[in-house]
Amino acid sequence: MSEIIIIGGGPAGMMAAISSKLHHPDAKVYLLERNDVLGKKLRLTGGGLCNVTANVDIETVIANVPKNGRFLYSALNEFGPQKIIQFFNENKCPLIEEDHFRMFPKSNKASDIIDTFLNVMNKLKVKVFYQSFVQDIDFNNRIITLQNKTIKYDTLIIATGGATYTHTGSDGNGYELAKKLGHQVSKILPAEVPLVSNDKFIQDKTLMGLSFKDINLKIVHNNKIIRSITHDLVITHFGLSGPAALRASYDCINLFEQQEKNVIVKIDFLPKISHLELSILSKDDLLITLNNNIPKRLLSYLKSITSNTLDLIEKVKNFPVNITQTRGMKVAFVTNGGINPKEINPKTMKSKLDVNVSFCGEIIDYNAYTGGYNITCALATGYVAGKYAL
Ligand SMILES: Cc1cc2nc3c(=O)[nH]c(=O)nc-3n(C[C@H](O)[C@H](O)[C@H](O)COP(=O)(O)OP(=O)(O)OC[C@H]3O[C@@H](n4cnc5c(N)ncnc54)[C@H](O)[C@@H]3O)c2cc1C
Repeated sequence: MSEIIIIGGGPAGMMAAISSKLHHPDAKVYLLERNDVLGKKLRLTGGGLCNVTANVDIETVIANVPKNGRFLYSALNEFGPQKIIQFFNENKCPLIEEDHFRMFPKSNKASDIIDTFLNVMNKLKVKVFYQSFVQDIDFNNRIITLQNKTIKYDTLIIATGGATYTHTGSDGNGYELAKKLGHQVSKILPAEVPLVSNDKFIQDKTLMGLSFKDINLKIVHNNKIIRSITHDLVITHFGLSGPAALRASYDCINLFEQQEKNVIVKIDFLPKISHLELSILSKDDLLITLNNNIPKRLLSYLKSITSNTLDLIEKVKNFPVNITQTRGMKVAFVTNGGINPKEINPKTMKSKLDVNVSFCGEIIDYNAYTGGYNITCALATGYVAGKYAL
């Protein structure tokens, strides 16, 4: 009887365990997790409510994976958002759609998502071992070393996650295991992380605490717009946060990596009304429109730094913020970097260096935007890794 061992009990590992057993019912399937609970990071997602997927099609998922999205095409075709929604529905954990297509458990309880995985694994007789930290792997002899024992495996699925929020258990140790097998691991950088600015209005806390729904934020480099993002934004004591800033962090970090010291982002506080539409209004009508559509504190600040209506409109539509760095790895939601996808078969998730080893989830070098996209990719790659494990 074959034995499949999965290392890491996040969404990728749990789905890999379920899919292994569904597709290979005769195999023994073991899930090893270093913590005493499963899905510690998953429970934090979506503000603690567990944002398991987004109700979109596969192309939209890929459009929300700024790095190496095409690698995920086959996996998403096998187990994309609609199959994920179906999986939770069929297992009595219906999901509900919130803003920006984000899907959450209807019960509003993250624990229901984890319980669903646990129930399905119980039903399928997947054996879960907690407090089981895999310290080392001897790939030649197919032996893994835990704290006080060694185990032989036929097939191994490594789903140890990225290197952020290390207290959740994903601290980057999986990269070392992959390197031991000979895999290339690209530079580990933060992704989906708030942005720091030293601009005076940030330092003076003039606009601190203001939050905006669906503003437009553009990242500008050499006078060219390299990305345009429409989402929510928060101005904080250190700079910019909220989904728009998190998404922008990917390009900002890439530019910092190219030795840029300062990246300019431009905020359009009123994306639904064009520059022209504002320009043709009388001064009184313009002020009424701005009063009705942007926070008073922002408006009075913008008035204080502009001397005429044209300049005021320009600041409303193209407010520049200088970004000097991000808040770094410690608070990043996601890891940019990981195992080179070129060394993994995208149809099976098997390592091209060892047919007995597969990888799934954030350990692979792709990174998606928050909003359910990372978890969708973790579940899709986990499903495929399990399906083709043997
Ligand atoms: C605060 C926060 C909010 C987020 N919000 C969202 C969101 O809204 N939408 C979204 O799409 N994504 C979000 N993410 C990202 C998302 O949670 C991750 O991309 C996803 O959990 C990755 O899944 P994974 O299974 O690959 O890895 P993980 O969830 O990191 O799981 C890896 C597991 O492996 C275990 N492990 C590691 N090494 C070993 C070892 N050697 N032996 C045994 N076990 C080991 C760890 O303990 C961990 O349980 C958020 C992340 C954070 C931190």
